[in-house]
Amino acid sequence: MAYAILFDSTKCVGCRNCEAACAEKWKNPYNEEIAAEEKLSAHKLTAVQTKGGRFVRRMCMHCNDPACVSACPVGALLSVCMPGSCCAWSAATPSNW
Ligand code: SF4
Ligand code: SF4
Repeated sequence: MAYAILFDSTKCVGCRNCEAACAEKWKNPYNEEIAAEEKLSAHKLTAVQTKGGRFVRRMCMHCNDPACVSACPVGALLSVCMPGSCCAWSAATPSNW
């Protein structure tokens, strides 16, 4: 059984709580410089990217109990079971991203 995390860009306010929660869960460093990187890396397993005042979240799906989902203050993230799936996907994300 695999899990996917749904992301609703219409709700995301770009607070980056999900980034911080992910870093804490995996004991990765997190500070203002890392927050500004806006790209996935070995020390940043999820990244909120900004473009034209909107936000898109690039993410993995490493956790069955994802800290990033529970950290979101606006309900922009939802963890769902995706039997047979091995990739996360984004909902309501502009097609030109
Ligand atoms: S599901 Fe991915 S982004 Fe979310 S806390 Fe786990 S490792 Fe981080
Ligand atoms: S997905 Fe949620 S926690 Fe992450 S930046 Fe957007 S509003 Fe904040």
